[in-house]
Amino acid sequence: MYLVSACLAGFNTRYDGTNCLDERVRKLVLSGLALPVCPEQLGGLPTPRPPMEFFPPCGGASVLDGMGGVFCMPPGKAGLQQDPEALKDALLRGARETLRVALAYGIKKAILKDGSPSCGTGYVHCRESAGGRKQPGRGVTAELLWRKGIEVAGVDSLQG
Ligand code: SF4
Repeated sequence: MYLVSACLAGFNTRYDGTNCLDERVRKLVLSGLALPVCPEQLGGLPTPRPPMEFFPPCGGASVLDGMGGVFCMPPGKAGLQQDPEALKDALLRGARETLRVALAYGIKKAILKDGSPSCGTGYVHCRESAGGRKQPGRGVTAELLWRKGIEVAGVDSLQG
């Protein structure tokens, strides 16, 4: 059984209320081989919601280690609290809840949406970074799952 990002399975869970359907992931879910989860919804964030990015030091590892790396929404967006600590708490809550689900279902591998502050497996978006906006790293949920021994990968790890 895989755990998969719900947006990859076609659920409209993304920050802008859309999905990023991948037919391979949808087939896994339809075959009963994958469990779709959205960590940010599990963390209590609304949909739609403003996009979030990391501040340096960027990445889920920094957030889990309490070294800063907090999230922030673009200024001027309405509809979500702008307190970076509250956003970070929501992402941590979603990561822990996703881990709880993964452990309950004996998940060994998660197929997650790259680039997301929660689900990113190879890169994340980072504001005010000298190295550019796209930085290598994992999102908060992906990092926590990985630390607990669950394989995390993007959709490109699926064949066909
Ligand atoms: S948190 Fe993950 S599952 Fe939810 S919309 Fe973002 S990338 Fe998709």
